Amino acid sequence: MALPKTIKIMHRNYTLVKETTKTLMTSQAYGMFKPVDGVITYVADVSHSETVDTVIHEMLHALWMLFDHDKEHEEHIVRTLSTGITTIMRDNPKLFAALQEVLNDEGKR
Ligand SMILES: [Zn+2]
Repeated sequence: MALPKTIKIMHRNYTLVKETTKTLMTSQAYGMFKPVDGVITYVADVSHSETVDTVIHEMLHALWMLFDHDKEHEEHIVRTLSTGITTIMRDNPKLFAALQEVLNDEGKR
């Protein structure tokens, strides 16, 4: 399944750009967040778990910036949370679809 070309994080839209490890490994990363350009880049020629982890990782960097959190421990916290969330998603495949349904039903009860 292809990821959307754009995503919204808080009030801002970001473009999702798919790359290969060969292209992006010059930066020694699986992903990149460019806040000024509004671009999140991720590699897609790795395992599916790594792709999901990378996209979540870069989204967390976007949130980190939007909430203006202290930069000191940013990379460590973002890395551990993205891997943790990816693991929860993988181990509970029905959970996020169910949570989405709960959001979709907002205001209906
Ligand atoms: Zn990072």
